[in-house]
Amino acid sequence: MNASVLVINCGSSSIKYALVPSTPEQPRLAGLAERLGGSDARLRGIDSRGDSFSQALGDADHTRALEAILHRLEGQRPLAVGHRIVHGGEHFTRAALIDDDVVAAIERTAALAPLHNPANLAGVKATRRLFPGLPQVAVFDTAFHQTLPPRAYRYALPEALYHDHGIRRYGFHGTSHAYVSQRADTLSGLEGGWLTAHLGNGCSTCAIWQGQSLDTSMGLTPLEGVAMGTRSGDVDPGLHAHLARQLGWPLERIDEVLNRESGLLGLSGLTNDMRELEAAEAHGHPGAALAIEVFCYRIAKSLAALSCALPRLDGLVFTGGIGENSARVRERVILLLPHFGLQLNRTVNSETIRGREGRIDAGGRQLWVIPTDEEGQIAIETRQQLQEASA
Ligand code: ADP
Repeated sequence: MNASVLVINCGSSSIKYALVPSTPEQPRLAGLAERLGGSDARLRGIDSRGDSFSQALGDADHTRALEAILHRLEGQRPLAVGHRIVHGGEHFTRAALIDDDVVAAIERTAALAPLHNPANLAGVKATRRLFPGLPQVAVFDTAFHQTLPPRAYRYALPEALYHDHGIRRYGFHGTSHAYVSQRADTLSGLEGGWLTAHLGNGCSTCAIWQGQSLDTSMGLTPLEGVAMGTRSGDVDPGLHAHLARQLGWPLERIDEVLNRESGLLGLSGLTNDMRELEAAEAHGHPGAALAIEVFCYRIAKSLAALSCALPRLDGLVFTGGIGENSARVRERVILLLPHFGLQLNRTVNSETIRGREGRIDAGGRQLWVIPTDEEGQIAIETRQQLQEASA
C-alpha cells in the first residue's frame, strides 16, 4: 500500500501541496498553484526525479487546481489528505479526522480567522469531492498552543469578551514549533525547556516545556508579537484609536498598514526580504540597518519574556527562512541575551545555512538551527489520526 500523505495548504488564491512519503529517503513531490481565481493561474513544482515544472492553469479555481495537482501525483493514490487549517479556536486541541461535524466546527471558528479559515475550508470541500472515500485530516496552527495556561492566554480585558466572544491569545505556527521542539528533544536527548524562534515572513516565538507549549508571541491573530516581514507585531493598543482620531483612518486602512506595510518593509522603506536587507545594510543603507536592528531586538526581547514561562531553559532553536539561513540574525539575537549564558560557535553558526540542521553553541545552553518541516509534521499528525481511528 502507498503510505504517502497528501498535504494541502489552501489559501484564498493559492494551494501549496506536498506528497509526503512514509520514509524520508523517498522523493517528495511538491508544488504551488498560484493566482487562482484570476486569468493567469499557474502550477509550479518538482516531480519525482527532482525536476521542476511549470504549467499554465488559465482561469482555474481551487477545484480545477486540485485536479491539476492530482495529475502531478504520478499515479500515486495517497493514504490520506492532511489539511493545514489556520484557526481551530478552543474547540480543536489536536488534529481531527474530518467529517461533517468537524467541517461545521471549523466554519464556526471562521469569525476568528476570516481571511484564512474559509479559504482552508474551500480546499477541504473540494478535496472531499475529488477524493470521495479518502480519509481527510485537519491539522490546526493553533492546536499546539492549547496547552497554554490562562495566565498566558488571557488578555487583561473584561471577562465577557473572553467568555462571550472567544477573545484570548491562541498562538499560531503550532506545527512548526511542535516539529522543531520535538526534533530538539530527539537531537539533545532531553525532554527539555526550549525557546523556539520561527522566523519566516511571519515570525513567532514559543516557550515549550516537555513537549507542551506554555506561551507564544502571537495572540488572537498572527499580528501580535515580534516584528515580521510586513506585519508590525506589538504596537501600543492605543495606536488604533490615535490613527482613527488624528489621521481619520478607517479600520480597513489601519489593518492594511499593520499587516502589509509595516515590519521589515515599513521600517526599511525598501523590502521585506531579509537577503536584500542584509545586502543593503552592507552597502550602508540606514533604513535596512534599523529594520534588522529592531527585528533582532524584538526577537531577543520576546525570547527573554517567554523564558518566564519555563521552569528550566535548556536552549534556543532557530527555524524558518531567516532562522535557518541568516547566521547574522542568529548571532545578533544571541548577543542581545548575554544573561542567558549562551556561547555561540561563530564558525559553525556561519556554516549552518540552507536547510542544514546543526548545533551552533560552544558550550553553555544549547543552540540549535533546525529546518522546519510543517508538511512533514502535518503528515505525521494525519497518520496518527488514522491509526487512532482504526485502533
Ligand atoms: P514563509 O513564512 O513565507 O514560509 P520563509 O520561511 O521561506 O517564509 O522565510 C522567508 C524569509 O527568509 C525572507 O525574509 C527571506 O529573505 C529569508 N531568507 C531566505 N533565505 C535567506 C538567506 N540566505 N539569508 C537571509 N534571509 C533569507
